[in-house]
Amino acid sequence: MSTIFHKIQRREIPAEIVYEDEHLFAFKDIAPQAPVHVLFVPKQDFATLNDVPDNQPEIVGRLALAAAKYAKAQGFDEDGYRIVMNCNGDGGQTVFQIHLHLLAGAPLGRFGTPV
Ligand code: 5GP
Repeated sequence: MSTIFHKIQRREIPAEIVYEDEHLFAFKDIAPQAPVHVLFVPKQDFATLNDVPDNQPEIVGRLALAAAKYAKAQGFDEDGYRIVMNCNGDGGQTVFQIHLHLLAGAPLGRFGTPV
């Protein structure tokens, strides 16, 4: 698989990478929807959340906990934040390597309204 996120991971295209370990990496979204908008991406390849096997819940869990740690390190954990994973068309997914959005930095609007 080769999505734009794989190219960011390989440093083939620029991005502001804010975290990386053996399991995942995180970088600032190119079109931020909040003052803080960071994407957390596993290094294992799964196109959508539907593709993560039942016996690998850690793939998703690590993304959420990495986002929470980032929030704490940046000092906005108490003010709050939102994590989101979009899946397929109705979910608004546009890049088919699973990723978790971390949004923060201001009170966020409600969500889930059909367009
Ligand atoms: P999705 O819509 O799949 O849930 O989220 C994909 C996200 O990737 C979008 O928020 C979009 O702005 C972001 N994105 C797409 N291309 C790039 C890129 O080249 N660099 C960065 N940093 N973010 C990107």
